[in-house]
Amino acid sequence: MNLPNSATSLIADRPDPDDRLDILDDGDGPTGGIEHKRKGWRILIVDDDREVHNATLFALHDILIDGRPLHFLHAYTGAEALAILRDEADVAVALLDVVMEHESSGLDLVHTIRNDLGLSELRIILRTGQPGYAPELRVIRDYDINDYKTKSELTRIRLLTTLTTALRSYDQIRTITAGRRGLALIVNSAADLFSRRALKGFAEGVLTQLAALLGLPPEGLLCARDAQPAQGSEKQPLMVVGAAGKYSALIDCPLDAIDDPLIVGDIRRCIAEKRNIYGDGATALYFTGDDGHSAAVFLATQEPLSATDKQLLEVFCVNIAVGLENVNLFSDLKFFAFSDPLTQLPNRKGFIDAIDARRRHGATDWTVALIDIDHFSEINDALGHQKGDLLLLAVAQRLRTVLGAGHTLARVGGDVFALLAPDLHLDPAALLALFAEPIAVGDYLLPVHATIGLTRLADEGGSGLDLLKTTNIALNRAKNDRRGRWQYYTRDMTEATRARLDLLHSLRVAIVEKRGLAVHYQPQIDLVSGRVVGAEALIRWTTDDGRNIPPDQFISLAEYSGLILDLGEWVLRTATAQLMEWDAAGLPPLRMAVNVSPTQFRDSRFASRLKGILAELAVPPQRIELEITEGVAMLDAETVISTLREVRALGAEVAVDDFGTGFSSLSYLHRLPLNRLKIDRSFVNDMDRPGNSGTGIADMVVKLGQSLGLSVIAEGVETEAQAELLRGIGCELAQGYLYARPMAAGAFRDWLEAHLETLA
Ligand code: C2E
Ligand code: CA
Ligand code: CA
Repeated sequence: MNLPNSATSLIADRPDPDDRLDILDDGDGPTGGIEHKRKGWRILIVDDDREVHNATLFALHDILIDGRPLHFLHAYTGAEALAILRDEADVAVALLDVVMEHESSGLDLVHTIRNDLGLSELRIILRTGQPGYAPELRVIRDYDINDYKTKSELTRIRLLTTLTTALRSYDQIRTITAGRRGLALIVNSAADLFSRRALKGFAEGVLTQLAALLGLPPEGLLCARDAQPAQGSEKQPLMVVGAAGKYSALIDCPLDAIDDPLIVGDIRRCIAEKRNIYGDGATALYFTGDDGHSAAVFLATQEPLSATDKQLLEVFCVNIAVGLENVNLFSDLKFFAFSDPLTQLPNRKGFIDAIDARRRHGATDWTVALIDIDHFSEINDALGHQKGDLLLLAVAQRLRTVLGAGHTLARVGGDVFALLAPDLHLDPAALLALFAEPIAVGDYLLPVHATIGLTRLADEGGSGLDLLKTTNIALNRAKNDRRGRWQYYTRDMTEATRARLDLLHSLRVAIVEKRGLAVHYQPQIDLVSGRVVGAEALIRWTTDDGRNIPPDQFISLAEYSGLILDLGEWVLRTATAQLMEWDAAGLPPLRMAVNVSPTQFRDSRFASRLKGILAELAVPPQRIELEITEGVAMLDAETVISTLREVRALGAEVAVDDFGTGFSSLSYLHRLPLNRLKIDRSFVNDMDRPGNSGTGIADMVVKLGQSLGLSVIAEGVETEAQAELLRGIGCELAQGYLYARPMAAGAFRDWLEAHLETLA
């Protein structure tokens, strides 16, 4: 109805409008935020005359307004127009026919758009066929109508200018609205962010809010650093504490480790210059807290930001910075200083803090435990660090299963875990039981054993650090004692530890200055002939203040401190030189047995050093016998076997000391190139104890030796009865107080000469 002919005047200069229909673009559905800026302007044509639609399209086709194309939506009735406006977002302009179904259709529609749909941003251009239908001025003002034109007035150029004006004003309104909405968002987000007390949640919140503010997908990261300098460094590193979108993988990564010069550069500049950086492809925002904390957000923003966006961001930054402390941002940053990155458990510092906190709460019925994985470094060396890490993770997992609420599990050292729990919950036997089953690591099924040291808070009143120390003392005690796999700390252990440290100091001086050290010799006798066939070299140490320290005490110290390498070599050299001296003096040629500690034996240079000493002192190698303990022989198959082979290749002999106390597997023993087994003195002692008649283990060892083709020596032979029993079971050699105690070189020579006489 009322179809104005003049509609064609719009297209008077263009033929055949129908041809243009196929290029209609009805838009891409709803879009929001910055999207609408990049896409075209969405324009709704409302007219019951198809011709008007076509003419308008034709007139405006291929036109860019402020650099953006036009997309058209078409409605032929008021109802259709309403349906479209309800569904579609971002319709900028409606070109609206005043008279459609009835005379006021257009104006009714305007009323509904403004009042019922609440679309205040949409610009409306009224078109009418005849001047007589012009709405009153009041209507134009009340309904916020942009323009009113008769269709004949709207030539192509006029339509374009009218539309341009309308679109620009739409854009301005949008900007203002966005600003207002942005401000509301900022105010609301601040409240939201302050309630997120964990750093990651906060960072995520900031990124989401920022993205919403800019109408961008959340892609960015938040970097922060603690104001407190890390120990030994000038500044804490900047860490990525939150990340979203494609940057998610960078979370927990130090900034410097990020392989993206844009991110690193922008954030560095942002922090250094303490201001927001607006780059071409990215924006970096600066936040600062009261107490010197600083943080920066990096956002990928493809397009340069508008002035409004920038203003909003500035407001956002100021607002959010206030919340930095509130959200415990920097207490979370401390995570990095207080936790172990591998297991995510607290580290040593974190554990000490946990003890201190527990103390502050007045707890006394709690216990600290250190759980040390036995032989972890060997596993690590053998299987590689990756497998080692997996093992540690598996151990952490098992330990977690016993944790109760409020208990703390930490990793305080490479292979040492720590537990803080109430006395009642901390049962060392139960902890050890966790390792009853072997642990699967890759293709390996590893038997894992642990040793535990414990301190009850009631027994040691000091700080967390003190408790860690005392527990460590207990742990070392547990490791050294063969009695059990755990030890509770007691006060006298501190005394003992101090005494041990003093002793260690004196030992070091003694070894360096070769002062107070001597080698004593104990004869080894052929049980059948009664002849002296050899001697065992045993070290002796007299301190400056005249105390004789038994080797059982200081050998472990020397092992522990590594001094054993020097000490052992000194014994070997001294004993060998002594042997040569006796040779030169015309004594019968003896074999010299020298004890070699596990640490010495595992030293890769051991065989070559031995070779050097033997060559230097010109001693026939078969005159030297090395005593290794059963434990060493069983320890680490390949290394031990290869060292043994080297030693045997030199011609020296090897005996397994303290035999029977370890856990030798017979098949393995078979592979070792040995000469002799030395029955531990405890079994010799057992033989003639009243009520314990029989030769028991000694007998078994002798038989084992025979089957392996090894000779057997018994140590600690104190009585004639023992000697008799040993002889009876076919044991070849013996050593013990029955014959002689270990003696200084001079005394040994006197004894030997006397003994030769009695034998003769
Ligand atoms: P071991 O290798 O088992 O040495 C034998 C120990 O038994 C010696 O104790 C010796 O004095 C003692 N003994 C000998 N006959 C008897 C006896 O009839 N009855 C009893 N009850 N004991 C007897 P010592 O000299 O106190 O040495 C203790 C341990 O210290 C040695 O045990 C050995 O493991 C270690 N040791 C001694 N000297 C050295 C050394 O030069 N290097 C290394 N690595 N360890 C050494
Ligand atoms: Ca020995
Ligand atoms: Ca022994």
